[in-house]
Amino acid sequence: MAEMDVDALHQHFRSIMASVPDAMVVINETGAITAFSNTSSTLFGYSEDEVLGQNVSLLMAGKDRANHDTYISRYLQTGIRKIIGIGRTVTARRKDGTLFPIDLKIGEAKIGEHYLFTAFMRDLTEQRRNETRMKALQAELVHFSRLSSVGTMASALAHELNQPLTVVTNYLEAARDLLDAPDEEAMKMIQEALNEAAKQSVRAGQIVRKLRDYVSRGEVDKRPTELVPLISDAIELVQTEMGEGVCRISISIAEDIPDVLVDPIQIQQVVINIVRNAIEAMKDTDDCGIKLSASVVGEDMVMISIEDNGPGIDRDVADQLFKPQASTKSTGMGLGLSICKTIVEAHGGTIEAVSAAGGGTRFVFTLERAEGTHDRD
Ligand code: ADP
Repeated sequence: MAEMDVDALHQHFRSIMASVPDAMVVINETGAITAFSNTSSTLFGYSEDEVLGQNVSLLMAGKDRANHDTYISRYLQTGIRKIIGIGRTVTARRKDGTLFPIDLKIGEAKIGEHYLFTAFMRDLTEQRRNETRMKALQAELVHFSRLSSVGTMASALAHELNQPLTVVTNYLEAARDLLDAPDEEAMKMIQEALNEAAKQSVRAGQIVRKLRDYVSRGEVDKRPTELVPLISDAIELVQTEMGEGVCRISISIAEDIPDVLVDPIQIQQVVINIVRNAIEAMKDTDDCGIKLSASVVGEDMVMISIEDNGPGIDRDVADQLFKPQASTKSTGMGLGLSICKTIVEAHGGTIEAVSAAGGGTRFVFTLERAEGTHDRD
């Protein structure tokens, strides 16, 4: 090979190492590093000079760090591929000793009698962080989904309410029978029976209230919250649950939309409920689409709008939409929107449903705008 060509090749190789988007490390069959891309330097915190000639186990953690030389020699002896061409997630180690997950792919090249192994690495830290965040969110939402699961809600309500209602019935029936011969003593007993019945119906009312408080988690823990992440996390959860492809969901919210003063989990529950309802309503709609937007209204409120292109609200439930039991679904308890209303009102906002221009439904609710700025983390 002419000298010029070697130079040109060398330069070409250097330009690859400078610009390859994944971190790329080349080693020889003794495990010594022979090339280290710029992105590898950024990822691991070592300069190329620091690592050239060093054993690649420097970048590894745990048992890989101790056994890497054995992995190479075993492969050279047996030819059995455990990772080459397969790829896997492993833990890597930065210069400062911190560990982080990477997606590792290895290719090999045989040049004469010698092997070169090229590793491509992608940092998975951000992906892992997102996964952890989603898991935490999902866990927090579990008690809500548990409540909206029809069976649990129905049996909890039935059980709690049955007792006072039975007592009310017994007292009222007794009072009715006593009216057959309304002498003085009977009147006294009737009065007592009605008193007891009234007490028990107050108790039934308290149970309902307690349940509503529980559903909306009693005290609202409001804090200044960025709207866009709040909404996109909620959408991601719905898509995880219902499948990403079922519906086109677009979010158009101006970047300068002010923060809102909310308990994020509760407001996400509202968004999830409305979006889930919309997707269910559009199960026979060819082009399922949902548009989310937000705007400032007046001095201190922000309005969120969730519009679908479904069939619109059924006339039978339209008047009672936000009341418990308004449902057109065979398994629905009609609690979702009444819970949404409780949550939005506990936040000082209002919620309503209007017809959308294209015949679908548009839910709009308002939230208080947060004063000042939130703590960005
Ligand atoms: P459930 O989902 O248990 O029926 P909800 O209170 O969440 O209870 O919803 C009540 C009813 O409102 C639904 O059964 C449905 O008929 C109607 N509804 C809600 N959202 C929509 C929508 N986007 N399009 C059409 N109908 C809707």
